[in-house]
Amino acid sequence: MIYENEVNYRKELYKSLKIDCEKCFGFCCVALYFSKTEGFPNDKDAGKPCINLKSDFKCSVHKNLREKGLKGCTAYDCFGAGQKVAQVTYGGKDWRENPQRANQMFDTFLIMRQLHEMLWYLTNALNAQDNSIIKEEISHMIEETIKLTNLEDINIMKLDLVSHRNKVNAILSKTSEVVRYNTNMGRKSTLKWKKTIAGRPNFIGADLKKTNLRGADLRGALLIAADLRGVDLSGADLIGADLRDADIRGANLTNSIFITQGQINGAKGDSNTKLPVALTRPTYW
Ligand code: SF4
Repeated sequence: MIYENEVNYRKELYKSLKIDCEKCFGFCCVALYFSKTEGFPNDKDAGKPCINLKSDFKCSVHKNLREKGLKGCTAYDCFGAGQKVAQVTYGGKDWRENPQRANQMFDTFLIMRQLHEMLWYLTNALNAQDNSIIKEEISHMIEETIKLTNLEDINIMKLDLVSHRNKVNAILSKTSEVVRYNTNMGRKSTLKWKKTIAGRPNFIGADLKKTNLRGADLRGALLIAADLRGVDLSGADLIGADLRDADIRGANLTNSIFITQGQINGAKGDSNTKLPVALTRPTYW
């Protein structure tokens, strides 16, 4: 093990992967495009500052995002890429002071966000995995990925992200198989699906309250507005699942794997929803 105390190691990693808007220069509010279909009142081009972004990089409607029809903002998670680019890559220099480098900063943020997302999943894998050989492999991949995040912007832009992501995905898939198998003691979940949309399992609006989803493979599943009230999702792999407006009141996600704050923020939960320790209960639930 790279660090003697793995629990502290994971805690530190999770801390560095949490959004800290105070240390960012509103990168997500500028670099990304917005689409009406994804929880924004209007479309916005990538690279154009949102009209609600103030000169001090704070959001003028931060306290009322959902009321203002900006659900997409609450469901977005940069995995700490914003503060990393602002404070580490560019040493505290913002894009307003450096307009000639602004586009490069936005592009760097988009790549950093992907690297930090991989780090989130790898940290999750480290948490979920019992096998010491695979744990060692995960730790090495985490260290390799952290090294990439510390490169200069010019080198970040040249990264072969596809090949790095493939290596990360191989580890995540291996972890998913082990966790799901162990959760169900070798038995499969009762989840059945035939319909897909663009290759993704389609459960849009489905009533899954009585389905055994322990250890289920829900990778990339469309669970928009699905009814998951009271469901036990222990050991279920939710990587890339679309949980917008999914009803997870009373559901148990404590030991679900590869779930993110963005997915949680976009779903409908309550005080009885059980979350993994690394995630925070949204204030509007
Ligand atoms: S509404 Fe606020 S949080 Fe959302 S993009 Fe605009 S400035 Fe950023």
